[in-house]
Amino acid sequence: MSTLAAAEAARLPIMLTELRLPTIKRLWADLAGQSNREGWPAERFLEALLAHEITERETRRMARARADSQLPPGKSLAEFDFAAVASVSKAHIMALAEADGWIAQGHNLLAFGPPGVGKTHLIAGIGHALVDRGYKVLFTRTSDLVQRLQAARRDLRLPAELAKLDRFDLLALDDLSYVRRDQAETSVLFELIAERYERKSIAITANAPFSAWDEVFPDKAMTLAAVDRLVHHATILEMNVESYRRKAAARPGRAQDGQQGTKRKSARGESNPISGQNG
Ligand code: ADP
Ligand code: MG
Repeated sequence: MSTLAAAEAARLPIMLTELRLPTIKRLWADLAGQSNREGWPAERFLEALLAHEITERETRRMARARADSQLPPGKSLAEFDFAAVASVSKAHIMALAEADGWIAQGHNLLAFGPPGVGKTHLIAGIGHALVDRGYKVLFTRTSDLVQRLQAARRDLRLPAELAKLDRFDLLALDDLSYVRRDQAETSVLFELIAERYERKSIAITANAPFSAWDEVFPDKAMTLAAVDRLVHHATILEMNVESYRRKAAARPGRAQDGQQGTKRKSARGESNPISGQNG
């Protein structure tokens, strides 16, 4: 290498740091050596460097999106046994997992059923698939999010907090029916639903049908207004099957998870969340 070339090479790491190109910074010396030895055209060398940077950038972005999503690890669609829930079509879920237009249009996804039937697993599986496709997802227990929004309201920064949630293409609210309005006033949840209406998607899991959501929102009018917005453009999955957990525990030879024999109460006896709406 000439003195001039050596001086130029010495500046490279600084420039690559400045430009935030860590992969090229790590690889350029080796690739330059190979390129010089094998007499690559300049285009090929440049293309190889940029391709490495893009690939690693995408990997880092995906890992960050996965961590940000707070999705439960391991709850993927590949691990979901569709045979256990006859009312749910695998083809339909796979279409939802490919985004299939509903995310772009801000449509919603609601999963109803008693405890243990796989509502959380299914919603999380769709969430993971969407992250794989480059969408931003946030999975949270509904009561945790309500607390966070209430704290924001107390500090007069609810709009800022809602704006922060806006960067997520899908907000997955787990166990909505566990929120109780006596926890504090939960109109923040309504505000979130109204804010995202027809813009950004929400997925919800709930044990209780709509008729029981009066327990969640401050009054009946707000419950109706929330349900109205949620179902206007929504896929509703009714999962009224036997608890997968209980079934797995009862199956001989299966790993025991400590749930065996646990009595689980079913959701309020209604099989159709819509028809339960006025009940
Ligand atoms: P829910 O949210 O309806 O209470 P979960 O999604 O938490 O139920 O499911 C309970 C447990 O059973 C989890 O460990 C979940 O992974 C597993 N599970 C439930 N349904 C299925 C299924 N169809 N295939 C595979 N695992 C399932
Ligand atoms: Mg659940």
